[in-house]
Amino acid sequence: MQAPSIGGVTVPRGDGSTVVRVRRGSSLTDFADRINANPASLVTVLFHLGEMATATQSLDEDTFKVLGAELGYDIQVVSPEEEEQELFASFNIDLEGEDYADEELQARPPVVTVMGHVDHGKTRLLDAIRNANVIATEAGGITQHIGAYQVAVEHEGEERKLTVIDTPGHEAFTAMRARGAKVTDIAILVVAADDGVMPQTIEALNHAQAADVPIVVAVNKIDVDGANPAKVRQQLTEYNLIAEEYGGDTMFVDISAKQGQNIDQLLEAVLLTADAALDLRANPETDARGVAIEANLDRGRGATATVLVQQGTLRVGDAIVAGSAHGRVRAMLDEHGKQVKEATPSRPVQVLGLASVPRAGDTFVVAPDDRTARQIAEKREAADRQASLAKARKRISLEDLNEALAAGKVETLNLILKGDASGSVEALEDALLQIDVGDEVDLRIIDRGVGAITMNNINLAVASNAVIIGFNVRAEGQNAEYADREGVEIRYYSVIYQAIEEIEAALKGMLKPEFEEVELGTAEIREIFRSSKFGNIAGSIVRSGEIRRGAKARITRDGVVVSENVEVAGLRRFKDDVTEVREGFECGINLGSYNDLQVGDLIATYEMREKPRD
Ligand code: GDP
Repeated sequence: MQAPSIGGVTVPRGDGSTVVRVRRGSSLTDFADRINANPASLVTVLFHLGEMATATQSLDEDTFKVLGAELGYDIQVVSPEEEEQELFASFNIDLEGEDYADEELQARPPVVTVMGHVDHGKTRLLDAIRNANVIATEAGGITQHIGAYQVAVEHEGEERKLTVIDTPGHEAFTAMRARGAKVTDIAILVVAADDGVMPQTIEALNHAQAADVPIVVAVNKIDVDGANPAKVRQQLTEYNLIAEEYGGDTMFVDISAKQGQNIDQLLEAVLLTADAALDLRANPETDARGVAIEANLDRGRGATATVLVQQGTLRVGDAIVAGSAHGRVRAMLDEHGKQVKEATPSRPVQVLGLASVPRAGDTFVVAPDDRTARQIAEKREAADRQASLAKARKRISLEDLNEALAAGKVETLNLILKGDASGSVEALEDALLQIDVGDEVDLRIIDRGVGAITMNNINLAVASNAVIIGFNVRAEGQNAEYADREGVEIRYYSVIYQAIEEIEAALKGMLKPEFEEVELGTAEIREIFRSSKFGNIAGSIVRSGEIRRGAKARITRDGVVVSENVEVAGLRRFKDDVTEVREGFECGINLGSYNDLQVGDLIATYEMREKPRD
């Protein structure tokens, strides 16, 4: 059914009870996809309802409800958690778990993440905690990096355990949260007393506060001359982190990660904060579930994944599914490299036996049997594939910018600049901002920085539909794959004017195709015939591919290029003119006015082909 025209556009209508389920964070384009409508028309409809949104912007549930009411759809916004629960419910696995009786629940150790500004001592603190050896364990030192470790502290006469996520910084934290995984109970915010609150300090605390994770502040480097712990306390009051001694409820502990000073006190503060602010209990007597926090493909051992158990107890022999990976737990190792038979809540273990590698942040659950585990994994994989297809369609690339502009999908080109030095990033930013393309499109640089392209940059590009510019820096390994999977375009440049030119061209919708050389064939000169009429004829044998009349050629002598860009003006087999001669055959090649030929020279022909843009 077509709607009566709303603001001059028609949109397929529902009958008022037609249910359309969209993922949380969906945009008009996603919804348009579901009802086969044109996203631009939906922008117009929404506009007439008094709401402004671009086609690719995420909409909240209320806006979807208003739009749905207008168009006759019951739009239901589904959270990733609900989606998971429904998937598992279809296999008779209950993921709710919140309704355990009091007596079924037991205290579990808090899970801690260390965050803060670069160089403030996060890595050093992780080492210090690892080595603090607060209660000497029989296992001795921690020998393996598996992504998390546990330490024990004596607290009010009791031995208490703490699980520490062994990756400093909030990048991992946000990436996991982006997948809906909540791993961290408490954040330790490291601030160097000789440097004070810095940009990433604020970023980290914003992330923690957004996730509702209580913060303990470790004021580090108090051994350094000029350290000013009081100033850190004072600076953080602006961000609602008020020290207990100033009447607030945030614990600040002055430490030196380097000298191992006050590490015990810091861990005690974590426990006190956990006890005061959180109810950390779990039911160890159920099937295990939790989150994969790190995963690798190991040559000898196959796929390994470090999982953090959040409910239940994981045992060797369990059938599990982690993200879209499944398998049976063949062995489990702890951070000492020791085999363990079972892992209780908050226990990180490295699991061997998965058929493929899950992603960090994927949830894992124990399934009743191998077959169910495999089926769940397959369903998840299909859902992921669909989601990433939808995303890939949604992201903007410089090539389709003009089309997107015309369709009203974007009016702003968002860029993220990363470079090898702050000078070049600034120069690039200045130059880009001076590009004048008129009023139709706005160029906005939403983030810039020095260094390789990180997961955070890619996440931001995903969230804001941005193109990333790498100036003498690249996204490597997993990051490059991630960008690829998420459909984020990264463009690499090493010359500023080239970046400017291409972006300007894209903004004007005139991006020129790129060409690459494709070799067609090579021939070796055997003999040279002098002809007064045609110039020299090179009697040759085709060594590879084929030689075509009209093709461009390059002449090399002993591997050194002697001439480029000459043309195969004439081609003969015996007395006949031919258009092409294939490998293994003899022929006469005429190179027009080009006459500097010797026996043994190699004639390589090539053509320029338009390169598919990636
Ligand atoms: P991250 O970037 O936050 O992980 O910082 P690191 O842990 O790598 O530390 C940055 C630098 O500060 C290193 O040179 C550390 O040795 C040094 N550092 C860390 N903690 C302390 C400390 O308590 N005192 C002193 N003097 N130096 C420290």
